[in-house]
Order: sequence, then C-alpha cells, then structure tokens
Amino acid sequence: MTIPFMAEAAAIADRLVAIRRDLHMHPELGFQEYRTAGIVADALNALGYEVTTGVGQTGVVGLMAGAQPGERTVLLRFDMDALPIDEANEVPYRSQTRGVMHACGHDAHVAVGIGVATLLAQHRDRWGGTIKLMFQPAEEGLGGARAMIADGLLQHPAVDVALALHVSSGHPVGTAVVRSGALLAASDRIEIVIHGHGGHGARPHETVDAVVVAAQVVVALQSIVARNLDPEEIGVVTIGSIQAGMAGNVIAEQAVLRGTIRSFSEPTRDLLHRRVREVAEHVAAAFGARADVQTPRGVHATVSAPGPTAVVYRSAAALFGADQVDTTYRTTGGEDFSEVLAAVPGNFFFLGARNDARGLNAPHHNPRFDIDEACLPQGVAILCDAAVACLAGADRLPG
Ligand SMILES: [Zn+2]
Ligand SMILES: [Zn+2]
Repeated sequence: MTIPFMAEAAAIADRLVAIRRDLHMHPELGFQEYRTAGIVADALNALGYEVTTGVGQTGVVGLMAGAQPGERTVLLRFDMDALPIDEANEVPYRSQTRGVMHACGHDAHVAVGIGVATLLAQHRDRWGGTIKLMFQPAEEGLGGARAMIADGLLQHPAVDVALALHVSSGHPVGTAVVRSGALLAASDRIEIVIHGHGGHGARPHETVDAVVVAAQVVVALQSIVARNLDPEEIGVVTIGSIQAGMAGNVIAEQAVLRGTIRSFSEPTRDLLHRRVREVAEHVAAAFGARADVQTPRGVHATVSAPGPTAVVYRSAAALFGADQVDTTYRTTGGEDFSEVLAAVPGNFFFLGARNDARGLNAPHHNPRFDIDEACLPQGVAILCDAAVACLAGADRLPG
C-alpha cells in the first residue's frame, strides 16, 4: 500500500535519518533551541520559504504558497526541545550533551518537518493555498505553543486547519493512532501548603503536626477518583512530591505537596479541581491545620476535530492498512499542541515508532528511549498527503 508522497519520502529517508541523528547528538532544552532553530531556518530558506525566526523566543515559522489556486492555510507543527535526562543508550548518535537528551522524539519531529518542507516545496504544482510550518520550542511543560500563539502565529494568514504528529514508542512502526476527540489529557498542577504548628518531637500535644496532616491529605485525595468521579470518565490525581520537616526530633510546622491533575473533559476537570481543594482544606481543618490549595491550569486536553481527523485517518489507513490504525487509544499524557487545537480545528496523531525485535521500545522520557527511524518517511508522507487534502478542503467534506 502506498500514498502520494510516499515514494518521494522514501527517496529522502537517508537524509531524514541524518538530520534526526545530528539533532539527537545535539539536544537543546526548551527555549534554548538556538542550534536546532538555526538548522530549521537554513533549511526553510534554502527551499524558498518565507521564514520568521524568534517567534515565541526560539520558534521558527515558514510560509509558502502553492502553485495551484487556493485560499486555505494549513498549519503543520513540529516541536524541537529535548529533556533534562542523561542518555543511557550506547549508539553512535548518542547525545553529546551531558544531562540533555531527545528522550521524547522531538528530534524525529524536526527531521519529519524538514522532510515535509522539502517535498511540499518540490511539488508546489500539486497544491494551492498556503502552508504554514510551525517549528515550536519548549513543548515539555514550558508553554512554547502558547508563546508562539502570543506572537501572532495563528494570524497573517489565519489558519484553517492545524495538523501535528508525535512518534510513539508505545505503538509498532507501521501503525498509527488517529482518533476524533481527546487523544491526550488536560494537565494541571497541584500545589498544597499545609500550615501546622511546629514543636518538640517529644511533645506532640503542643503542636499541629504538618507531616501527619500531609499524610492524611494524600490518602484522602485518593478517594476523589475512586469515589467522586463517574466510572465512565477518566481522571488522575497524583501527588508526586511531599516536602516537610528537617529533623527526626522536630515536629514540622509546614508541609508542601505537589502533584498533577489529568482529565479529558472540562466537567471532569472542574470536578477534580473542586474536590482537591475541598478535601485538602477540610482534612487539614479537621486536624487543626490550614491548607492553602492552588491548582493552576496547564495545557488543555488535545482535542482533534472530526473533519481533519478523517483526512489524516484516510492517509494513514491507505499507507498502513485500516487494521493498523487505532481509532480508540488515548493517554493521560499532556501535549501543548492542545493550545493550537483550542483555537483552530485540526488533528494530532501518534505515529508508531516501536520495534521490539530491535529493542526500540523504552518509554518516552526514559534514558533508553529510541525510535525505529523507518517511521520518519512514513510521517513525512502522511503529513504531506493530509496537508494537501486539507488545502483542497477535504476536511469539510462528509466521509
Ligand atoms: Zn515528552
Ligand atoms: Zn513529546
């Protein structure tokens, strides 16, 4: 099976691998992607794109009009940042920067992006309208998409459809996950400060022990998903950090709890926020302490629209076979492309990159994360095919 652009993408597969490995060897953290952004800008300039750098600090935007008539604008997004992880893989292209690693696959995304830019520029005769390439900084929790949107990303020209992919080490190479609705969760923070009354470890009756209160709060928070959430709904309340106390014979005055809330729908999101606050405040009060509860909202759920999703599904199914495209999987991870999808309709999909036989199956954000690079030309072909279809308005057609 094949699709338009697959033969062309396969013909540049070696170059995609070379780009990906070079980026893998030189990872950069969020908002520090100077070398990566420079490589992207040079590539886009050489291909004839109108290039703007410094969008959302280190982001790059490339614009090109097709040779056919057309009014629509399709945005394609590729994130560029790495993670503060020490790479444990023993490969020739291992990270050359200690403590920084492309452990989420954003190096692959940039390589795919340059591949897409190359094929769409070489085949301008196949499409009309405008392609807007978004090379995004700081996807890993630092708000790079929001920063680019604040700098006017979605205007001049306004965007009709937005598409993006993420490689997935959870899915075999040669497969994809393409679904309507929420694929990834809203991701919000929990910050709870418990104010007790410190004192001597031998005289607890004179104190309000913040450690004991914190322990009760952590246990009580577990009841929210178990007892308050509709079993048909999905939610997560995790406390990942407890900080309290300095010595074994001193009762702590204060405890700080940090965690995360994940949800796929706004009603569930609101419920979880409300119950975290109520449970923490009232449990603390029951022990004579006070809880200051903050639940700052992070990224929205990543919600794909039906029309663009149908287009991407058709491309992926034509390339891999319909039985190799999962339309039901979703994950409680978060993704800040959700900020784009909250503003314009589009699709975000997973591209399989796992290969068990070659041991390429460590999870994302793991020091042994790696991908099967055979996914690179596949990602290029699916995105080119889907983008050209959306430029022609296929996302507005039924079926
Ligand atoms: Zn990640
Ligand atoms: Zn990622």
